[in-house]
Amino acid sequence: MPQSAEKILDHAPLFREPEYRQMLAEKKLNFECPHPERLVTDQREYSKGWEYREKNLAREALVVNPAKACQPLGAVFAAAGFERTMSFVHGSQGCVAYYRSHLSRHFKEPASAVSSSMTEDAAVFGGLKNLVDGLANTYALYDPKMIAVSTTCMAEVIGDDLHGFIENAKSEGAVPPEFDVPFAHTPAFVGSHVDGYDSMVKGILEHFWKGQARTQAAGTINIIPGFDGFCVGNNRELQRLLTLMGVSYTFIQDASDQFDTPSDGEYRMYDGARRSRR
Ligand code: SF4
Repeated sequence: MPQSAEKILDHAPLFREPEYRQMLAEKKLNFECPHPERLVTDQREYSKGWEYREKNLAREALVVNPAKACQPLGAVFAAAGFERTMSFVHGSQGCVAYYRSHLSRHFKEPASAVSSSMTEDAAVFGGLKNLVDGLANTYALYDPKMIAVSTTCMAEVIGDDLHGFIENAKSEGAVPPEFDVPFAHTPAFVGSHVDGYDSMVKGILEHFWKGQARTQAAGTINIIPGFDGFCVGNNRELQRLLTLMGVSYTFIQDASDQFDTPSDGEYRMYDGARRSRR
């Protein structure tokens, strides 16, 4: 077997193991109706030639299909950059498993997020009960300082109203009335993970400061680092440079510690986002 508990391989090295090479070759042969090898080789050689180059340069329109993930993934990443914050995704469970595994695979760190686990009945009658029960469980089980709520396609298609649902959950005692539950609607069928990140950060800022008078902290800059898969290195380097320049700053969101916990055998569900200020 190419994998064992002692030897976990990531996608690329795993699929280069002999067992996978053979399996992929057989799949291609039996199910993909492949062109003859000679034709593929000829086409590859043609694509290196002058004629093909000229054809490419003569193009007048170009369609780029960018790598996009869905909005709630960005919301989960954003929430990870706030102190002791648990992401609560209102919608289907499988979507949330995808965000957790995606972030875990990328950062090689555990990534926590809970789901209201909506199923068929919630899709028909609305997910209020799921959200009330889910918030109560999250508050009781995971001891967060804040729960950041976002949505999957399913909750958005049926039009669940997060603000109303969270108020209901508070009045039913799922979480204390003063407990912070910021939210962002993150319909995954528009925009991308980048929009989801922005919406969640905006939701958190509005939760704490909407309607409050503006104050000017002289000489201090606020930094929103954005959806950055390299936040562990980039945020710390930015902080180092700002410190060297003597600049006073606040990182509004910073997931660099959350996704770089020490390998000392202790699991940290929450880490960091407290030292992002100088
Ligand atoms: S696109 Fe929709 S269904 Fe797919 S993972 Fe995202 S929220 Fe879930």
